[in-house]
Amino acid sequence: MPKVKVIGAGLAGSEAAYQLAKRGVDVELYEMRPGKMTPAHSTGAFAELVCSNSLKSLDGASAAGTLKFELLALDSLLIGEAIRASVPAGKALAVDREAFSKGVTDAIASLPNVTVVEEELEEIPDGPAIIATGPLTSDALAGSIRRELGSDFLSFYDAAAPIVAAGSIDRSRTFAQSRYDKGEGADYLNAPFDKDSYERFVDELVAAERVVARDFERKELFSACQPVEEIARTGMDALRYGPLKPVGLTDPSTGRRPWAAVQLRAENAECTAYNLVGFQTNLRFAEQERVFRMIPGLEDAEFERFGVMHRNTFIDSPRALGSTFEIPAKPSIRFAGQITGTEGYCEAIASGLMAALATYAQLEGKELPALPRETFSGSLMAYATSPETERYQPMHVNCGLMPQLECRIKSKRERYAAYSLRAREAIAAYRGRLIELGLMESPAEIAIPEALALYIGGGEPNA
Ligand SMILES: Cc1cc2nc3c(=O)[nH]c(=O)nc-3n(C[C@H](O)[C@H](O)[C@H](O)COP(=O)(O)OP(=O)(O)OC[C@H]3O[C@@H](n4cnc5c(N)ncnc54)[C@H](O)[C@@H]3O)c2cc1C
Repeated sequence: MPKVKVIGAGLAGSEAAYQLAKRGVDVELYEMRPGKMTPAHSTGAFAELVCSNSLKSLDGASAAGTLKFELLALDSLLIGEAIRASVPAGKALAVDREAFSKGVTDAIASLPNVTVVEEELEEIPDGPAIIATGPLTSDALAGSIRRELGSDFLSFYDAAAPIVAAGSIDRSRTFAQSRYDKGEGADYLNAPFDKDSYERFVDELVAAERVVARDFERKELFSACQPVEEIARTGMDALRYGPLKPVGLTDPSTGRRPWAAVQLRAENAECTAYNLVGFQTNLRFAEQERVFRMIPGLEDAEFERFGVMHRNTFIDSPRALGSTFEIPAKPSIRFAGQITGTEGYCEAIASGLMAALATYAQLEGKELPALPRETFSGSLMAYATSPETERYQPMHVNCGLMPQLECRIKSKRERYAAYSLRAREAIAAYRGRLIELGLMESPAEIAIPEALALYIGGGEPNA
C-alpha cells in the first residue's frame, strides 16, 4: 500500500494521520511548525487551539453536541483526547489546551507507521495525499493550490453575514418580494424600517461592541470588505443608500416604499434559513443577537450562524472539489479541515476523519458510503460539496443545514432534540455499515465516556 502524505498537523491533519495509521497505512505527516510559524500559532505542538479553549457544547440536543457523538461513534482520536484534557465548563467541552495538544502529539508520535517531517511543503504533492493546512496555509502552498484549482476558487478572508432560521422570522412583519419584482419573490424576504426604528437601529449598531481583529487580519480584511457597522458609522443615511436601500420595494402593509429595508435571502432550496444580505459584521456574537433583533420581524430570530470577518484561506469547495473534497482531476489528493470551508475545531476534526476514511477506502479499492444527510457531519459535508450551494462561505454544523423533519415541531428545544435523535440513529447505522465493509474495526458498541453520557447520550443511539 502506498504511503499517504498528510500536510499539516493541526486538528484535521492529526485526526487524518491517526485514522490512516491505525488502519495500517504508512503516513508521512508534514508540519512546518515550529521552524515556520503561522501568524496565530505559538507552539510546535500538534492540534494547537489558536484561540478559544472550548470545543463548544456537549448538549445532546444541540448540533455541536451531536457532532461530538458522531465523532465518538467513528472513534475520533481528538475528541477522546479533548475529553481526557477537559476542564470544568458546564455543558461545554473546554480543555486544558496544552494537555490536549500534548495528548494528540504523544498519541501520534507513538504510532510506528507515522513519520513526522518538520518541513513546509510548498507545492501540492503527488497523491495519495491529504492537505490540511488550515485557514493560515503558508503562502507558497496557497500559491500552488491557486495554480492547480484556479484563482477564483481560493479566498483569503471570510466576511460572512449572519444566518437566521426561517421558522424564527415573524412573517407578519416582513414581506416576500424581489427588488423591482425581478426573479422569484419567495427567494427574498424584506424587513421594512420606518424612520424612527431605522434611526434607533443605526444608533445601536454604531455603539455596539466589536471584536478586535488581530494585527495580521486588519489591513487585508477591511480593504476587501466593509463591515455593516463601519458603513453605518459614516452617516445616518449611509445604510439607506447602501445595503438597506429600499428602492424597488413596496411594503404591502402601507402600499409605499419603506424608509429602509433589510433583505433576507434564502440560504438553501428548502428555504429553511435566510442570510441578512450585506450584513458582514465584526460585532461580538451577543451584540449581533441584541442589535439585529431590532430588525422588524427578527425580534425572536434564532441565529444559525453569526457574522464573522477574519483571515481565512478557504477553497470554494462546492465548485472546485468532489464529494470527498478530492481534486476532480487528481482524485487521490484531497483537502480536509478549515481550508475546505468547514468552520470550527470539531468540524475540522470531522473532515479530517472523513478524508482519511475516503483515502483508505480508495487504497483498498472499496466504495466509501456517503455520510447520511441526517447526520450533522453528513449535512455539513453535503453543504460544502454540493454544486447547488451558492455563494459559499465557511460554515459550522447547525440545524439549518439538516433535511427537514417529517413533522413540524414548534418548540426549539424539542426540534433540536429530534434532529439529534435522528442523527444518532443514522450515525450508528453508518458505523455498522463501515464495520461490515471492513473499513472500520471496532467493538459493536459506541463508547461514550461515562462522564459525558449524561450530556450526549449513552451507547444506545436512541437513549
Ligand atoms: C485567528 C483565528 C482564530 C480562530 N478561533 C477559533 C475558535 O475560537 N474556535 C474555533 O472553533 N475555530 C477557530 N478558528 C478556526 C480554526 O482555525 C479552526 O477551527 C481549526 O484550527 C482548523 O483546523 P485545521 O486543521 O483545518 O487547521 P489548523 O489547526 O490551523 O492546522 C493547520 C496546520 O497546517 C500547518 N501548515 C500550514 N501550511 C503548511 C505547509 N505549507 N506545510 C506544512 N504545514 C503547514 C500549520 O502550521 C498548522 O499546524 C480560528 C482561526 C483563526 C485563524
